[in-house]
This record gives sequence, structure tokens and C-alpha cells, in this order.
Amino acid sequence: MPDPASAADTPEYPARLPASIDRFAGRLENRLIRAMPRLVMPVPTQEPIVSFTFDDVPASALDVGAAILEANGVRGTFYISGGLEGRIEPGRSLIDRAGCRELAARGHELGCHSFSHHDLRHVDGDALSADLARNAAYLDAVDPRTARRNFAYPYNSGSFSKRALLDRRFRSCRAGGEGINRGPTDPAFLRAIEIRQPQQHVLGLPRWIDALVADPGWLIFFTHDVSPQPTPYGCTPPSFHLLVGYAVARGCRVLTVDAALDHMGLRGAER
Ligand SMILES: [Zn+2]
Repeated sequence: MPDPASAADTPEYPARLPASIDRFAGRLENRLIRAMPRLVMPVPTQEPIVSFTFDDVPASALDVGAAILEANGVRGTFYISGGLEGRIEPGRSLIDRAGCRELAARGHELGCHSFSHHDLRHVDGDALSADLARNAAYLDAVDPRTARRNFAYPYNSGSFSKRALLDRRFRSCRAGGEGINRGPTDPAFLRAIEIRQPQQHVLGLPRWIDALVADPGWLIFFTHDVSPQPTPYGCTPPSFHLLVGYAVARGCRVLTVDAALDHMGLRGAER
């Protein structure tokens, strides 16, 4: 999301460009990464697969979002930034270690969203390595695992020069990009669709599920809070319930990101 003012633990380069130009540069960099994929994996096109993911992660994603997934018999992927732990922000508060532990215990996947939640374009390689190690320690303390985790870019902002570093460390990296993953796909820059306000936008999202059923692949949704008064980057409980239920009713296989990669036989999780 555009900013929960980041937990300033990792030094950022000084802002060298005005914000509007920096955003434009970010869009260009994302387009460059799409145009020149670092890796390609073949996402099968025989079966519609859907993953529901949450970034940051707000407490309502656990209290409401996870419960809605479970009521539909499925699980989700929660990309955690340890540096946002327990923060209280306008319209949302973030989960803490106990919340992460509960998600894992209930069968959901914990992914990495960096520790400090900076735009990776503005963090140098050494600082990023240290930041990712710090988040790995945070997550491993609540959900130990030896296999590689999955990652989501803060602000969905890719960094061309950090791709090798991210690819070594993670099984996959999710960005935005408003599209379905099908056929040749860069696992270091997965496409995803945002569930966000206004409500009119959310009501249009079932069309993505229709498109997936008509032409199968892997559709990844992402959102933040699930609340009766959502932030601009979240949605209401009924609309999330509707979307998850629709994916299930249309016969999609709903899996966490990690389980989807397992199911498709792609990108072994071993380090
Ligand atoms: Zn985020």
C-alpha cells in the first residue's frame, strides 16, 4: 500500500527525485522487469488456480480475512513485515508475533514482505540482505521452516538490480501488474490483482475469476484489511466472502502461494 510510513530500520537512499517522478520511474522499472524476465517457469493452463494473499498484515486480515477463507475450506498467504509489528495506524492496526503464530497454527502461509517495508529500489544490496535476514529471523521464530519462503514486494515495486538476490532467497516474489499468471511466467515477479476500494472495483473482481475459468492459469489476489470501514487498500467482510465463495463455486482450486507452486510442481522450495 502507498505508505504506512515505513519502519525506518533499514537506511534508505536519500530521495533524489520528486515523488511524482519517482513513482513514474518505478512504473518504468516494473515495465522493464516484465519486458526482460530473469527467469521463466511454465504455469500450467489446464486448471484454474486461485491464491488469496494479504500484505503487511493488518489484524483484521487475521480476525476476519483468515476466518472467511477457513469458512470456505481454504487457506491464504500472509506476507509479513516484522518492522510493522503491532503498529497502530489510521484505520488499521498490524498483527504481532502472536497473530503470526496463530495464522501459521491455523494452516495459513507466512511469507516475507521485507522487515522495514521500504521500496526496494531505494535500498542498496547489502542493506537489503541484512533487512531480509532480519525478517527471516522474525518469521522463523514464530513459524520455523527450512525451505525457502515466498516474498511480496513492498508497494509492488520491483528492482531490476535486486532480482538475483531475491531469487536466491525466495521461492517466488509477488508484485502487482493486474493480470493472470499463465504459460511462461517469471517466478520473481508474479502478477496479482488488488482487492481495494472503491466498492465498485471490488464488485468487478469476479470477472477475473470468470476469465480464469475460461482460460486457466494462476490468479493471485492481494489485499490488506478486511473491515466494515476498510482503508482504500482493503475491502469489507461481505465482499471478501463473496469473492472467495465465488472462486470456490466456480470450481477453482484455491491454494496458498506455496501450495500452488507445490501443486504445479514448480520451483522446489529447498534452499
Ligand atoms: Zn505492504
